[in-house]
Amino acid sequence: MATDNRVDGTSLRPGLEFAEYVEDFRRAGHEAVEWIASYLEHAREYPVLPRVKPGDLIDALPAAAPDGGESFDTILDDFQQKVVPAVTHWNHPRFLAYFACTGSTPAIVAEMLSAALNTNGLHWITSPAVAELEKVAMGWLRQWLGLPEGFFGIIYDTASVSTMHAIAAAREMAAPQFRENGSQPNLVVYTSEQSHSSVEKGAIAIGLGQKNVRKIATDEEFRMRPDLLFQAIEADLATGLKPFCVVATVGTTSTTSVDPVSEIADVAEKYGLWFHIDAAYAGSAAILPEYRHILAGAERAHSLVMNPHKWMFTPVDLSAFYTRRPDILRRAFSLVPEYLRPAEDPKAINLMDYGVPLGRRFRSLKLWFVMRYFGREGIQHLLRNHIQWAQEFAMWIDADQRFERVAPAPFSVVCFRFKGSDEQNKALLERVNATGEVFLSHTALKGQYVLRIAIGNLGTTRDDVVRTWELLKESAAAL
Ligand code: PLP
Repeated sequence: MATDNRVDGTSLRPGLEFAEYVEDFRRAGHEAVEWIASYLEHAREYPVLPRVKPGDLIDALPAAAPDGGESFDTILDDFQQKVVPAVTHWNHPRFLAYFACTGSTPAIVAEMLSAALNTNGLHWITSPAVAELEKVAMGWLRQWLGLPEGFFGIIYDTASVSTMHAIAAAREMAAPQFRENGSQPNLVVYTSEQSHSSVEKGAIAIGLGQKNVRKIATDEEFRMRPDLLFQAIEADLATGLKPFCVVATVGTTSTTSVDPVSEIADVAEKYGLWFHIDAAYAGSAAILPEYRHILAGAERAHSLVMNPHKWMFTPVDLSAFYTRRPDILRRAFSLVPEYLRPAEDPKAINLMDYGVPLGRRFRSLKLWFVMRYFGREGIQHLLRNHIQWAQEFAMWIDADQRFERVAPAPFSVVCFRFKGSDEQNKALLERVNATGEVFLSHTALKGQYVLRIAIGNLGTTRDDVVRTWELLKESAAAL
């Protein structure tokens, strides 16, 4: 039995002493770890997509929380019987939709430890480990990505929030009076028509106005056209507007196209714009020496985001944000009431100064575990496999008369179509997904409905990709 470390031995709830509470945890914790291990071993036996209708889980659970506490056994039982059947299994090796990223066991262990410590990194003294491990892990990741030493790293939850912070810092650089006075209706941000909706959402969230987001057209390969960026900026300047920020993407959401970073950096420098790079998915590929070139020119960016939770086997949520102007980010966000005044030691990092969130989870722990467990070479091995299988899949598409590829496939995503109508492509996707064996997603390109396979899952094998291609061919034959 655990010893009760509280002085007066007060019960936690009627009938539950502290020692029993800890013992309960020990038993349930072991059971949960067993369940997780078996789940990971058998992930492919689950249907990828749950067989539930909207509202099923809500209906299966009581409308109000219990008055009296329940046992772990009862709760875990409901977890398995009611919650798991409503889960979409991102861990399934044939979850090949969106950016199909799994977590990994080192990160699961780290998440458990982080939850146990429940240490909250508001400023340095509230958890030196949170502040300093974040610096260490982000420094290691920066080296793996080949970003310059001067880049300051901070972890946010998602790329959407990272990009929102980039745009806010850009605004601080261009219009420092905004912080005090609010609204500045003439600021304009530029991005491509293929960039993720988070750019526009970030602009909405910080009050720039959707109409002040310019979506620059892309070339045949879905990359932002710098000549059109230049023209759009000139046109806005001519009407008295104030260009202040440009967001390029390395690995766009639909096709994983890579915007011409250096040429966009030229334009950004010419007009004094903050230059942000969204490398949320494809940034991971820069860990491979043969792909390092995708971030060429990134040293000229003011900020960059890449998500280990997209293609680096780290469970949601972990978004790595880098900036070479932490001073401006800090100017945009630092606000320190007396009750949060940190100790004044120049070596103490106070991450609350660099963004909206005050509370800070110990997210760096999982990144640190993942980087140590796999090592750079382990991650490189996984990424290379994914890229290779995607390239093979692209070749199968190219070689089959019934299908066509609709975009280059520079990484581990392939966009393709059955040569037929949008309705036939929709039907094909539905048919393939309805097998429960695989989950693919879709997008729209040049006005057409397009299917998409994304390989990024730790458990995926080449055989899974082969089987997916078979299912597609069988389903196409049955159309
Ligand atoms: N940027 C790109 C290129 C993405 O593909 C996505 C999501 O898929 C995001 C940003 C948003 O990511 P998050 O869910 O971390 O906000």
